Amino acid sequence: MTPLRRPVIAGNWKMNKGPAATREFFRQFKPRCPARTDRTLAFFPPAVSLMAAAEMARDRPDLLLGVQNIYWKPEGAFTGELSGAMAREAGARFTLVGHSERRHVFGESDDDVRRKVAAAFEADLVPVLCLGEKLEERKAGQVEAVILRQLDAAVSGLPEAHIAGLLIAYEPVWAIGTGVNATPADAAAAHAVLRRRLAEHAGEDAARSIPILYGGSVKPENATELLAAADVDGLLVGGASLDPGGFARIALSEVRASG
Ligand code: PEP
Repeated sequence: MTPLRRPVIAGNWKMNKGPAATREFFRQFKPRCPARTDRTLAFFPPAVSLMAAAEMARDRPDLLLGVQNIYWKPEGAFTGELSGAMAREAGARFTLVGHSERRHVFGESDDDVRRKVAAAFEADLVPVLCLGEKLEERKAGQVEAVILRQLDAAVSGLPEAHIAGLLIAYEPVWAIGTGVNATPADAAAAHAVLRRRLAEHAGEDAARSIPILYGGSVKPENATELLAAADVDGLLVGGASLDPGGFARIALSEVRASG
């Protein structure tokens, strides 16, 4: 594994934890999870809590931050939206793009996702491109077709250097928040499909260096076996990232050596 592919363990807090709860989380999390150099840890609090998180992580440069969503315009009359540049200024290094809830609750299209990926790079944010199939699509044998459609759309028109700078999160919709995780074999199979396509888009070296995370009902009890699966370079954790003790256990899970 290349150093760039050192495991990434990320917590998506969704619409949970305002600034006070964010500060309390980090007060409890930091002593439970000492800094490690063999993995990257990232947190995606609600945007209003980003600066509280940044304040709490000031003494822990190993704890990186991101936002859950951006709009693709840099500024203007877009009530309720947030630009990449604003998120960057407030302490974000990453942004999720195309999370299942954005796609399926808020109706974001593949084309919206493409614009947001490009806007993230414009703002010097690393996009974490989320994709995954719904249960009916899995039952219909369409996993590969769906995730490749989502990937192709998201990177359409993107320079190869930017594709190489992506993070991908494979998150089957049926596994998100349901308590039913994909098996390590299912995750490995989907990740291999994505990595092959990334090689077609940006070359073998880029494809090898792009971290592909798994997300969907990750818990302290299943994190290690998911991280051990071939081609799984990290985890995007929703519900289980809200508890400082539980997320510290996930963050300290055994990972493959990088190098
Ligand atoms: C997520 O929201 O990205 C997610 C994977 O949620 P959960 O871990 O709760 O399934």
